[in-house]
Amino acid sequence: GDELVAAVHRIMSHADSARRLAVRANADNAEDAARARRFGAQGIGLCRTEHMFLGDRRQLVEDLVLADGDDERERALAALEPLQRADFTEIFRAMDGLPVTVRLLDPPLHEFLPDHTELAVKVALAGDRATGRDRRLLAAVKRLHEQNPMLGLRGVRLGLVVPGLFAMQVRAIAEAARAVPGARAEIMIPLVGAVQELECVREEAAGILAEAGVEAAVGTMIEVPRAALTAGQIAEAAEFFSFGTNDLTQMTWGFSRDDVEAAFFSRYLDLGVFGVSPFETLDRAGVGRLVRIAAEEGRRARPGLKLGICGEHGGDPDSIHFCHEVGLDYVSCSPFRVPVARLEAGRAALACAGSDTR
Ligand code: PEP
Ligand code: MG
Repeated sequence: GDELVAAVHRIMSHADSARRLAVRANADNAEDAARARRFGAQGIGLCRTEHMFLGDRRQLVEDLVLADGDDERERALAALEPLQRADFTEIFRAMDGLPVTVRLLDPPLHEFLPDHTELAVKVALAGDRATGRDRRLLAAVKRLHEQNPMLGLRGVRLGLVVPGLFAMQVRAIAEAARAVPGARAEIMIPLVGAVQELECVREEAAGILAEAGVEAAVGTMIEVPRAALTAGQIAEAAEFFSFGTNDLTQMTWGFSRDDVEAAFFSRYLDLGVFGVSPFETLDRAGVGRLVRIAAEEGRRARPGLKLGICGEHGGDPDSIHFCHEVGLDYVSCSPFRVPVARLEAGRAALACAGSDTR
């Protein structure tokens, strides 16, 4: 037992001293953050904030959806803000001075709103006794219904159409960071496809951070193909890029990430289009080419631009080698994959040093 543990430690420290990629974890609560640190994560590369709006807080989200006018919307947001502040405070505490990249809200609307059918049945069954709230909610859900929620009102788009939503989150991040000594917050904007989207959110965020007297980098995910192709422009407004290869794969191939077990995939495997699903191992020829373009153009526009990856591929061995070759600064993956990522990052560095394939 002890010998094995010692051997593992030796291998890990060998890998750690060889690797150039930093390894962060995707974590969105204090428990996962603590686990990530135990596995050796050097920060949080993706703190998704969606789950923070589910469960007990659905009621508050409904209030936001139902808000009629500025006052009601501001009240709904004000009710969410202290909860968000507590969420971020816990995570900053757990990470104890390591960087935490908080991604602003990116929910596909269908996961966020009450189920349309259930609500319709409830209202129909209640007949005349249906509450006004349920009726209004049903109308709102109908109004907001989308055929393709994953391509719809998500990420930065939501931030742009719901005044005060991202501002509430940024204020909560800033106040939490101020309350935790040494906290290092980074703010990440999801689903950006045009520099104007980023500029708009970034400007508002910068004002809030300045007012709070908190320094935090503001960067973007690169997960829409157009963002990769216009990376030079986007880099002017972003202090870092993090590749969201789940969405980037979905949008580059036009494959739904929610139907990855699609019947036709086995046919593609037979044909040798890919040996492994591109959602598991990064497709170098297509998605990888977009990553390279974005990395190169981004760094040309902003030398020293920090680059990471936080899609599922960040924990996949072959994809980690690719990330090393492209010159990313870090990979971010599930806490449980952190040790493997450290090891692979070390192997990638040694392999490159050996063959000089860069
Ligand atoms: C991604 O798209 O790769 C990503 C990390 O974001 P999410 O999976 O939350 O869409
Ligand atoms: Mg995404």
